[in-house]
Amino acid sequence: MNSNVNSDLLLKGGLLPSGAVADILIRDGNIAGIADSISTPPDAQIIDVAGKLVSPGLVNGHVHLDKTLLGAAWIPHLPGNTVTERIAAEKTIRSQVNVPVKTRAATLVDLFVSHGTTAVRSHVDIDPDIGLAHLEAILELREEVRERLTIELVAFPQSGVRAAPGTAALLEEAMKLGVENIGGLDPAAIDGDVEGQLDLLFGLAERYGAGIDIHLHDGGELGIFELEQIAERCRAGGLAGRVTVSHAYALGMVSQSVVAATAGKLAGAGVAILTAASGFGAMPPVKLLLSCGVHVFAGTDNVRDAWSPFGNGDMAERAALIAYRCGMNSDEDLRAAFDMATVSAAKALGLENYGLAVGNPADLVVFRAASVQEAIAAHAPRDLVIKGGRIIGT
Ligand SMILES: [Zn+2]
Repeated sequence: MNSNVNSDLLLKGGLLPSGAVADILIRDGNIAGIADSISTPPDAQIIDVAGKLVSPGLVNGHVHLDKTLLGAAWIPHLPGNTVTERIAAEKTIRSQVNVPVKTRAATLVDLFVSHGTTAVRSHVDIDPDIGLAHLEAILELREEVRERLTIELVAFPQSGVRAAPGTAALLEEAMKLGVENIGGLDPAAIDGDVEGQLDLLFGLAERYGAGIDIHLHDGGELGIFELEQIAERCRAGGLAGRVTVSHAYALGMVSQSVVAATAGKLAGAGVAILTAASGFGAMPPVKLLLSCGVHVFAGTDNVRDAWSPFGNGDMAERAALIAYRCGMNSDEDLRAAFDMATVSAAKALGLENYGLAVGNPADLVVFRAASVQEAIAAHAPRDLVIKGGRIIGT
């Protein structure tokens, strides 16, 4: 189905996330009306969505567009028990791929869009071997697909910062190219220098007005120490709402009282936690974190790459996996999971004018489900994907 962005679109009788029934009028790319009953404008395209959930577009808070092997012939997964071993395995696998980064990433974009994702935050590998090649490919792709998917970027030092000399200068180059966030990786385990890596990241963030998103696999008390260090620097730097710790497995490895104490510091400083419910990591206790006021949001992380042979890029399925691992079964819990894949992820990305409100861009997805709970629990089929007022998937 195609739609001209210049013609009005009227979605009739949809179920909003609140449970209300409403018509939604889309005009010039934006939501022009939400009401019990909207009369049909001349020449409008009418779509009957009665009994179906009309949701804001899904937001995937953590992906790696440049890593995916989609679009290339199947390459067997190489095991690795530690992050260091996995980094080495990825280098081996990368040497066997003959399909360009941009082509593979475009295939993953198509997959995200097909499931109703309208915005993502993508980490992009930067190290002395890769240089800025992956970033340049993804920057090009971002422009080419911007009418279908909003892409925010993180300059990600996959081989470490101090551990891979030359990376710091490359990260700074990435900032100059307009990358929105500076990434990090296990300051203790990979760099052996918590202070050194955090000094560099927070220094760059301050100098370039960037956000920060740090992969933290470091576990137990060490990981908790690093979370506290990050919270303290975030607070001191006035970066509330601009700092994310991805994974934070340590929060799933310590007592509830330690989690609560750490959560208080994260919430107080405005540090968000991203979880992908990775199968190989400890699961942060999402309900406890939310009850402590921590901003928690969701992402798929790796999709069909050297880190994971799994994944279909569906954020509804990912939200269900998070809820499943955390025992989040009540309607309230499932709504929280839905929020992690929609409004909470949008907040992390700083998406302005996100959501079902008049005047906002019409980024919507229609689920074949009667509620947000059913949409998540069943990761229900998507019947329609609309971005900027245009139908881009059915
Ligand atoms: Zn990641």
